[in-house]
Amino acid sequence: MTGRYSDQDVEHYDRPRRRTRPRTKERPVYDDAEDAVVVTVDRGRFTLLLDDRTVMAMKARPLGRKGVVVGDRVRVVGDTSGRDGSLARIVEVSPRTTVLRRSAEDDADAVERVIVANADQLVVVTALADPEPQPRLIDRALVAAYDAGLQPLLCLTKSDLADPDTLLSTYRSLGVPWLVTHKGGDLTELRGRLRGRTSVLLGSSGVGKSTLVNALVPDADRDVGHVNAVTGRGRHTSTSAYLLELPHDPGEERAWIVDTPGIRSFGLAHVQPEQLIEAFPDLDEMTEDCPRGCTHGEDEPECGLDEAVRTGQADPDRVESFRRLLAARSEPLY
Ligand code: ZN
Repeated sequence: MTGRYSDQDVEHYDRPRRRTRPRTKERPVYDDAEDAVVVTVDRGRFTLLLDDRTVMAMKARPLGRKGVVVGDRVRVVGDTSGRDGSLARIVEVSPRTTVLRRSAEDDADAVERVIVANADQLVVVTALADPEPQPRLIDRALVAAYDAGLQPLLCLTKSDLADPDTLLSTYRSLGVPWLVTHKGGDLTELRGRLRGRTSVLLGSSGVGKSTLVNALVPDADRDVGHVNAVTGRGRHTSTSAYLLELPHDPGEERAWIVDTPGIRSFGLAHVQPEQLIEAFPDLDEMTEDCPRGCTHGEDEPECGLDEAVRTGQADPDRVESFRRLLAARSEPLY
């Protein structure tokens, strides 16, 4: 029997028996499927965490072109043993609570892709010095966070080299939470912020993100390519997003981080002003009388935000910062 035929046999075997189990909304099609979460994606192969074991899987044919991304909760059938060479099949993707997206950088038509599903927080890792902070990159990351409905957190590294005040003054009026850290420093506060959540870590090279990930998940060894403690197998590098669980004491809330490759690839062309301003309900309220199609930018002739600043209802710094984020959507990256 050729591989092709046996593939089809497996397909047949797993296909729901239509006569006995009609496809209805009330009844799951795959009663025997198991729940898992997507840890990473590599060339059409998915690494899943199922209970405490790592399972490799592919998409089942009925999913078609439907995307499956890191953080997705999925249902799998087939060989879920996790043994070497085993391959399970993803038959369902659960509805996502959040989606972190990016657009293709060079495409004004905003071909967007979901990078991470079901995260709650976006941790923007930035060095206070060496390399110098890049506020434009931070702004873009914040836009991505607000658009996705993720809580942003500024994690300022190398606090032994520079004071955070100057940088923070840029973000104070937006109310972005922040913390400082340095190599070998105490990570209690950061761990506290990660507890009970799934947090995406973003940061460009040299800011100390890998150091941070390795300190948070000591067995991860993201960069050196050792066998991973969570997945128990394989070399992996920082080229694709990767879900890792922080070690936790019994009874302690679990914490997950998604380590991502470079921040520079974050195209934002898909982000609409209406979505962005929803992250700032106080400002959103002041745009009710804006003319149709108002983008709330500083060049808009009759934007309610200007009126709100004039009448003292809105903090001018906050409006200005919001507009800086708005403009950051369409700025070139370099
Ligand atoms: Zn407006």
